[in-house]
Amino acid sequence: MRGDVAKPIYSITPFTLLDYPHKTACILWFAGCNMRCLYCYNPDIVLGKGKLSFQEALNFLKTRINLLDGVVLSGGECTLHKNCIKLVIEIKKMGLLVKIDTNGTAPKILETLINEKLIDYVALDFKAPTDKFESITNSKLYSKFICSLKLLINSNIPFEVRTTLHSSLLVQNDIQKMINVLEKFDYKGSYYLQKFMNDTETLAGIENSIHNTINVSSLNTKLSVVLRN
Ligand code: SF4
Repeated sequence: MRGDVAKPIYSITPFTLLDYPHKTACILWFAGCNMRCLYCYNPDIVLGKGKLSFQEALNFLKTRINLLDGVVLSGGECTLHKNCIKLVIEIKKMGLLVKIDTNGTAPKILETLINEKLIDYVALDFKAPTDKFESITNSKLYSKFICSLKLLINSNIPFEVRTTLHSSLLVQNDIQKMINVLEKFDYKGSYYLQKFMNDTETLAGIENSIHNTINVSSLNTKLSVVLRN
């Protein structure tokens, strides 16, 4: 593959049963992100430099053909990287499924990936309601996130929407506001609320979260809201 001189990949997790629903996969961790979420668990990946070129990642993946179902592109933010579409094309040629974990801030790239049938599953992070989005993510990218959400809802790509819960950042009413947005755009899938992992290094050195501050049964919604670790 041409154009692989730079090293966009921070590291590779060679095997996971947890990150691609019902599939065996590896994870390519992309260095760099256009957000600075206060609770981000991956400061090294967000702030650090990549160590592997796309070609090196592809060389690894060739050794996993017939051993894994798919590849998770995570990070950092995979959709920001020049040539990420070319990389995905090469992965698909190997017959591997592709899941992307994304903050949804590159809707044009996402649209191409959807239209060219290059991705098989998407985990879309819904960081915060509009009034808290900037303070939690240190970005002004809410409208781009909404574009990505609408693109996915109007596509045939299986996807999930998920939010990381930290008791100092999001409260019950915030979750209700986010559910209202999902319902407004006719999202029909499950909405996953992920517990913040305490005692983990974060970008902002945020304190531990008090768990179980969201009462799922009190939320006003027809969506399936799922609490998960
Ligand atoms: S949690 Fe936020 S800062 Fe960290 S990788 Fe995801 S989008 Fe980027």
